[in-house]
Amino acid sequence: VPRAIAYHRPDSVEDAVALLNDSSHQPLAGGTVLNGDDDPTPVTMVDLQGCGLDGISGDAGRLRLGAMTTLHDMVNDDRVPTGLAGAAQAELPSTLRTLATVGGTVATGNADSILLAALLVHDARVELVGPGGYEMLSLADLLKAGVAAGHVVTAVEFDPSGDCVRQSTARTPSDTPIVSATARNAADGVRLALTGMADYPVLTDPRDPTTGLEPISDFRGSADYRRKLAEVLTKRAVNAIGGVA
Ligand SMILES: Cc1cc2nc3c(=O)[nH]c(=O)nc-3n(C[C@H](O)[C@H](O)[C@H](O)COP(=O)(O)OP(=O)(O)OC[C@H]3O[C@@H](n4cnc5c(N)ncnc54)[C@H](O)[C@@H]3O)c2cc1C
Repeated sequence: VPRAIAYHRPDSVEDAVALLNDSSHQPLAGGTVLNGDDDPTPVTMVDLQGCGLDGISGDAGRLRLGAMTTLHDMVNDDRVPTGLAGAAQAELPSTLRTLATVGGTVATGNADSILLAALLVHDARVELVGPGGYEMLSLADLLKAGVAAGHVVTAVEFDPSGDCVRQSTARTPSDTPIVSATARNAADGVRLALTGMADYPVLTDPRDPTTGLEPISDFRGSADYRRKLAEVLTKRAVNAIGGVA
């Protein structure tokens, strides 16, 4: 049964925010989650396609991904660092990459998202707009808090310098990693992000990656197994970028 009981296609972000003032209205981006969801709650979809939120811009200092930029666009843009483009490519199969967007990925905050982990180590910040106007939050803070109702993610910007490296373990080579560690050598030190270790991807201390994290146990691995994986994968990822200074 389709969830959508009504559909709007506003042509500006301001109009989208006005429509989202009603709690039964939800932003629609690529639809890979929203249209496939088996939650029966009826939704009025507010399609963001006409709001001019796609495209990649910026320079060597800071790159900006419009929220409606697809993972396919990220993979095929030479300005996106190789490690980050690789994470976008590995996140989803090609049939979904042409639909799934950066904004939808951020708003979903999937615990296993290697793309979010790569954005975290590139010091990503998220631009949002809501009834109170525009604001910028670090991606780490946004993943913790979630996107507030009535708000639209408009862009994600990040530092493209210093490529990132990912180490991961999955049940099969093409499966979503049980745990992954992504490391980047930034100008002021190493950044490390883990997936599969919390409710959302997290930035953590490369010297002590698992303290304070309470991973779940499920059919893919126990909490102890995940902790062990995180320690081993962190060492490999950090060594691959030259170690912690
Ligand atoms: C078969 C399948 C496999 C998947 N595998 C993975 C995986 O391995 N790893 C992974 O991390 N994810 C996975 N996903 C989840 C999903 O593909 C991603 O999270 C995706 O990037 C969502 O983007 P979208 O544009 O399709 O979002 P949509 O489905 O359009 O929206 C998802 C949610 O985000 C909200 N939203 C979308 N855009 C915005 C915005 N700009 N501002 C505010 N809220 C917004 C929507 O209201 C909705 O609640 C998978 C999904 C499917 C269907």
